[in-house]
Amino acid sequence: MNINLNQSVTALKGIGEETAEIFSEMKIYTIHDLLEYFPYRYEDYSLKDLTEVIHDEKVTVEGKVHSEPSLVYYGRKKSKLTIRLFVQSYLIKVVFFNQPYLKNKIVINETITVTGKWDAHRQTITANEMQAGPNSKPKEFEPVYSLKGKLTTKGMRKFINLAFQQYGSFLEETLPPVFINKYRLPCRQDAIKAMHFPSCQEDVKQARRRFVYEEFLLFQLKMQALRKFEREHSPGITQNYDLKKLTEFINTLPFPLTNAQKRVVNEVLAELKSPFRMNRLLQGDVGSGKTVVAAIGLYACVTAGFQGALMVPTEILAEQHAESLKSLLEPFKVRCELLTSSVKGKRRRELLQDLADGEVDILIGTHALIQDEVVFKRLGFVITDEQHRFGVEQRRVLREKGENPDVLFMTATPIPRTLAITVFGEMDVSIIDEMPAGRKTIETYWAKPEMLERVLVFVEKELMKGHQAYVICPLIEESDKLDVQNAIDVHTTLSHYFHNRYQAGLMHGRLSSDEKDSVMKAFSANEVQVLVSTTVVEVGVNVPNATMMVIYDAERFGLSQLHQLRGRVGRGSDQSYCILLANPKSEVGQERMRTMTETNDGFELSEKDLELRGPGDFFGRKQSGVPEFKVADMVHDYRALETARNDAALLIQSETFWTAPEYQHLRKGLEVSGVLEGEKLD
Ligand code: ADP
Ligand code: MG
Repeated sequence: MNINLNQSVTALKGIGEETAEIFSEMKIYTIHDLLEYFPYRYEDYSLKDLTEVIHDEKVTVEGKVHSEPSLVYYGRKKSKLTIRLFVQSYLIKVVFFNQPYLKNKIVINETITVTGKWDAHRQTITANEMQAGPNSKPKEFEPVYSLKGKLTTKGMRKFINLAFQQYGSFLEETLPPVFINKYRLPCRQDAIKAMHFPSCQEDVKQARRRFVYEEFLLFQLKMQALRKFEREHSPGITQNYDLKKLTEFINTLPFPLTNAQKRVVNEVLAELKSPFRMNRLLQGDVGSGKTVVAAIGLYACVTAGFQGALMVPTEILAEQHAESLKSLLEPFKVRCELLTSSVKGKRRRELLQDLADGEVDILIGTHALIQDEVVFKRLGFVITDEQHRFGVEQRRVLREKGENPDVLFMTATPIPRTLAITVFGEMDVSIIDEMPAGRKTIETYWAKPEMLERVLVFVEKELMKGHQAYVICPLIEESDKLDVQNAIDVHTTLSHYFHNRYQAGLMHGRLSSDEKDSVMKAFSANEVQVLVSTTVVEVGVNVPNATMMVIYDAERFGLSQLHQLRGRVGRGSDQSYCILLANPKSEVGQERMRTMTETNDGFELSEKDLELRGPGDFFGRKQSGVPEFKVADMVHDYRALETARNDAALLIQSETFWTAPEYQHLRKGLEVSGVLEGEKLD
């Protein structure tokens, strides 16, 4: 017999052209594919205690037949067979419809097993399966496959059984013994057998554990091999920064760095200095102080004789960052310039010329920075803030700018660990997991829209203390499709409400950048006390005197976005508040509001967001690069994912991984996926 598992499924008896056609729709082509086509669930026939079974649940019970069954016919070919059965100490009824022939198999005082739906009120099982006689107990567990066309569950089980009988013993192990032993995983052959022919739930659990690990390990090996390959094949720049100047700069900051900031600064500096290229993701919750880390990194690059760039998603944010960098770095004779769409004509030409001549040290701007007309003399370091707003393509263009600059992506949308090590698996990750001292937690309340009056009284109390407030609306102007608050109307209402006492400003994405600029400046200078805005203020904006955040129709925003919005307050030492005006109808919506009032921890929120929305939606777009796994679930199996990641990291670094025979299957996995294209493996 030909034992090649990669031959077509038609090699199996009973599989002809027609069945093969259906299989191909299910992406099953070879015998190996068939053996790896796992059930999506299992039918549970394990015996249940009736006191624990809820109404309408499916159940299998074993019992003693109490009395002669009764069989009644009604209509044509319709029948009802009723049995009285002792189960544990209960007497229950079991009915079978239209299976009159079962009557002959039933003997008083003998044990039978039945499966069906439990009606708790009538103490009756409406059964569809029965086993009688000794050793009658059915298998506890039967696999259920997702099928196409004329294929039946029975047929599928038969084919898989046949395939396993003939080919099962030729299944090769793919994991090296060291991991099998370390994690007590079943071998590949046993695991495949257990997935298809389990005798209990535990079998499936162990088998699943193995495939989850295997999938994650292969995936992580790919990511890390890619990273190693990139490192070794795209030489970076060694930036010999001036430590003395840098220390002086850090010592003049108005505050000491937190330990987390220090750690991240060190990680960044080490990589600037190394000949390898930085490709790092910096995560830090809103308000954790990423800007100053960026400033230190950029200054280091400048003292090494290179230029730096800081790229952000909006012009407002670009202006703010330009201002903070100027005030921090200009005393140290660093020239920082802002490049946005409002820098035009002669001014723009001169700026670009100075940049090309190397006279500008640090350029700050939006994605205008990666346009072709922008040429640096010796770009050494690029930082992007809130990079999740940049597409993958923009990230790539950025990395290709200049002579392989070091790149740091900063984000305040904490990415759940699971996604960080999958979607960004080829990057190094730094985390600022500590808030500057003296910050108070923002108090968050969820109010129904009817309570608006009281909310406004509360807002005014804060304004009376000399503080400022943001009011966020989902829409710019009225929409006939959506019954939600819009910024223009709310601005009008609040202008009336606070008339003669406080000034209300209006901000949204349709204003020209000059208009936005002047509103933002007025708010920063406390000439405007209440800023009504759409989510354009979501990212990065820093006005420490604002202590109140009111969000209309909060149920329309995701958790991460709400957290971002909330992060606009609580940036100074005063107590801040966030009020969510919402009337969510759905359970998930209510859960989101509750979660917001319960936690201020961005990482916790992002994990929750992931749980509520699922990995595909997390970044808001489908093409988010979230990988798909066959057995594994990134969210629920994240511990295995972390383990696999650590193992992969060690393997990739070790000499033996690239040579020893026990790793050949894993190496093959890399080859197949094209990660090591051009690299010679064996
Ligand atoms: P984010 O990480 O959200 O970008 P920012 O960099 O805007 O946060 O910092 C938020 C505020 O915290 C700023 O006003 C900044 O000056 C201040 N800050 C940053 N680091 C510290 C620190 N170590 N101690 C005290 N305040 C700090
Ligand atoms: Mg920031």
